[in-house]
Amino acid sequence: MFINGEWADAASGATFDVTNPATGEVIGSVPDGGADDATAAVAAADEAFGPWSQTTAYERADLLYRAWELMTERSTQLAELMTREQGKPLKASSAEVKYGADFLRWYAEEAKRVAGEWLPSARADQRFLVLKQPVGVVAAITPWNYPISMLTRKMGPALAAGCTLVLKAAEATPLCARAIFQIFADAGAPAGVVNLVTALDPKPIGEVFCTDERVRKVTFTGSTAVGKMLAGKAAGNLKRVSVELGGHAPFIVYPDADPVHAAKGAAALKFLNSGQACISPNRLYVHESGAEAFVDTLVQRIGRVKAGNGMNDGIGVGPLVNEAAVAKVANQVDDARSKGADVPVGGERLTGEGFDGGHFYAPTLVTGVTDEMLIRREETFGPVAPVITYSDVDQVVAMANDTNYGLAAYVYTQNLSTAMRTFEGLRFGIIGINDVNPTSAAAPFGGMGDSGLGREGGHEGIAEYLEVKLGGFAI
Ligand code: ADP
Repeated sequence: MFINGEWADAASGATFDVTNPATGEVIGSVPDGGADDATAAVAAADEAFGPWSQTTAYERADLLYRAWELMTERSTQLAELMTREQGKPLKASSAEVKYGADFLRWYAEEAKRVAGEWLPSARADQRFLVLKQPVGVVAAITPWNYPISMLTRKMGPALAAGCTLVLKAAEATPLCARAIFQIFADAGAPAGVVNLVTALDPKPIGEVFCTDERVRKVTFTGSTAVGKMLAGKAAGNLKRVSVELGGHAPFIVYPDADPVHAAKGAAALKFLNSGQACISPNRLYVHESGAEAFVDTLVQRIGRVKAGNGMNDGIGVGPLVNEAAVAKVANQVDDARSKGADVPVGGERLTGEGFDGGHFYAPTLVTGVTDEMLIRREETFGPVAPVITYSDVDQVVAMANDTNYGLAAYVYTQNLSTAMRTFEGLRFGIIGINDVNPTSAAAPFGGMGDSGLGREGGHEGIAEYLEVKLGGFAI
């Protein structure tokens, strides 16, 4: 772990192994930290907060720029490590490293744009000054599906704002986290400004993060169930909270859209990260007029996606994270099949040479999905594209909104007013209009409803780490 500027073992001396999800091979071993280690990391971050919060925005930007440069220099090694530890194809890992690095560069720039306001008062002898200051020590918990960008998306704005940070990485991907903290160490982060805890059991760490008085903000990315629990606990102690949780993204194809173009977009998007993304489309609503062309294109495209070890050339879909993930996907597909859905492509666990050591599920298309099926409501997190054919254009936004989640949605139409009305009517935080990649370090990412609280990226992303202070000056 990285605590107070030093690499450290767990207080207990325990360690746990990290495995490659494509092969089952052990690729490393990391400290198995506990509450003591988390508390030591919080103490280090608390100690460092005073001096770090008093640095100039220019100094903080310099650290972030140096870290961005090192990430860029080490991008090949980082991508290879990510593929071995998390499983996504090498090309996808490289794209994530670049996306992750962008948060450091963008917030290096944004650090210098945190400005207050000078407000007029109704009283002639009074002036109001609004000052933005860092909230304090930030505790962050990150997931395994994007094991680098989910860290930098929190570290960039927290450090730019003048906060110090303690981060607990996901137990499946601590090696990527270590590589990022090594970059911050090499970039010259002062001791205690960034601290990393690794642990096989996240609960005691979460408990410290949500209860230690020195932690002023908890930021979490992961499942809705854990996010609700942690947000409740942290809010009970009046800590600032932001949580980025699950999703169940609709993908609407209107009758005026080109169904072939839309299907190509859906196929490209759905299999990113083997479908293990909170913004992955979970319901493909295609108008009946274009359904045949849409499904035919998906059948061809999905039939061509090659599953396997992401280190090999031409692989489009890597393994799932673990056996539980395979079982969940298989259960949803089997449930849909038993309730009358068709599965023209895939629909099975992949076995045999190249697959047996890992956790592979075939790229799958499910058509004829109805409201009774599990897949219609439950987040899939796997390489399965579920198609729902609709006939009433006026109902499709209501159908898409019929979920507790509200993270991402996608819309294909050539009609400007349809695009605008749908954009306004969908209750989701991120909407791609003829666009399958509406994400960027410069743009606010986050959800409504069960998908979370707060935004990451953009100027909204740094506001999450700032307190607003009002000064009333009688002159
Ligand atoms: P996923 O389904 O993506 O694994 P989780 O919410 O279980 O989602 O995991 C996301 C992150 O939350 C990981 O770092 C994990 O260790 C952490 N986590 C899971 N359960 C808890 C908990 N009870 N307290 C604190 N952190 C937790």
